[in-house]
Amino acid sequence: MQKANKNNGSNCLHNRSLNLIKDSDFLKKQLRIALRNCGIIDPENIDDYFCVRGYEALGKALTEMKPYDVVKAVKDSGIRGRGGAGFSTGLKWDFAYQAKGDVKYIVCNADEGDPGAFMDRSAIEGDPHSLIEGMAVGGYAVGAQKGVIYIRAEYPLAIKRLEIALEQARQHNLLGDNILGTDYSFDIELRLGAGAFVCGEETALLNSIEGKRGMPRPRPPFPTQSGLFGKPTLINNVETWCNIPVILIDGADWFKGIGTENSKGTKVFALAGKVHNTGLFEVPMGTTLREMVYDIGGGIPNGKKFKAVQTGGPSGGCLTEDYLDTKIDYESLAAAGSIMGSGGMIVIDEDACMVNIAKFFLEFTQDESCGKCTPCREGTKRMLEILTRITEGKGKQGDIEKLERLGTMIQKASLCGLGQSAPNPVISTIKNFREEYEQHINDKK
Ligand code: SF4
Repeated sequence: MQKANKNNGSNCLHNRSLNLIKDSDFLKKQLRIALRNCGIIDPENIDDYFCVRGYEALGKALTEMKPYDVVKAVKDSGIRGRGGAGFSTGLKWDFAYQAKGDVKYIVCNADEGDPGAFMDRSAIEGDPHSLIEGMAVGGYAVGAQKGVIYIRAEYPLAIKRLEIALEQARQHNLLGDNILGTDYSFDIELRLGAGAFVCGEETALLNSIEGKRGMPRPRPPFPTQSGLFGKPTLINNVETWCNIPVILIDGADWFKGIGTENSKGTKVFALAGKVHNTGLFEVPMGTTLREMVYDIGGGIPNGKKFKAVQTGGPSGGCLTEDYLDTKIDYESLAAAGSIMGSGGMIVIDEDACMVNIAKFFLEFTQDESCGKCTPCREGTKRMLEILTRITEGKGKQGDIEKLERLGTMIQKASLCGLGQSAPNPVISTIKNFREEYEQHINDKK
């Protein structure tokens, strides 16, 4: 059994850069697990990744753990999928492990499509080997020999760095046949997506890899039973895979000590909009929205007042000042009327019209609707027509109630998450900013 090269990272040239800024306000409230190596290592140099315990988790899995021990470690950590739905990652791995089949697949969803979100792109550009290692560990755990990374073609630098990293991993026998001298073989190929938002939905993504039109499939069967080419398939997103090596090295107990009761670990956010500090942040679950906006984001520029924070991208909701002390975890955000989503977070100041904001997001989801089911295809069009006439000063009495009725129907009757969540920005702004809708209708402006 060969060993992956490793040390504590003290020799890494790029480690010095973070030391210069680690005490800044910008970083103090952050805890970097998924992004732990971004900005520290040279992503095109596998030796740098070895310096930060790179491929140690894969070596540990192959030499010290049976496949189900790895599944159990992921289950025990409590990690939930970072792609949006928040389903238990360990449970998903267990389903894939239990699934019968000679051929199984590992898939990484890197089809990030929320406007303003770039978590996956940055994680891959900064540390492609973490993703590759997480997938190789996952393949060993569930009995898969083939992995596919589905990544947006609009991410050329991330694709280039993945190609370099995959080749380096093969040269070091960390991918390919008989990895590190064991009888485990696993390799990964890239598939490029053409930028359809719906292909971030995992069954549409599988269709796209298979060369079909990217439309969601009805579930069940779930991908862990019948996924890529009808075979059991384990799909996680980039951030989830990047957490896996750390969970194996530092242990499930360490990981589950971070976060809240039901949401463990950290979450990466792309903070944008009206704050001083925009960019990527990784914070422990349980951090409040107020800490994100004021401590990490640095507050609202130009002396303006905070008006709302939109979480969850185009599928999320807009929360008012009353919700600023909400903890960032799956349940708390849902109870407040929004969602975690994949990590988009947009801060809105007093100058914004919330009806226009809702219309912007609905325009996006309506445009990206794949058209397969009527509630989403037709319902979002009708909602957009109403919103357009309201914002053009042609709104009628009863329009707000129509939006609420249509929105609820679309949420309940659509086939996939895109349609089920498309009305969220409208429903949440009606709930929290109804007077702005009324003002448009009554003042005819
Ligand atoms: Fe397509 Fe929308 Fe139906 Fe999803 S909900 S399958 S995106 S039409």
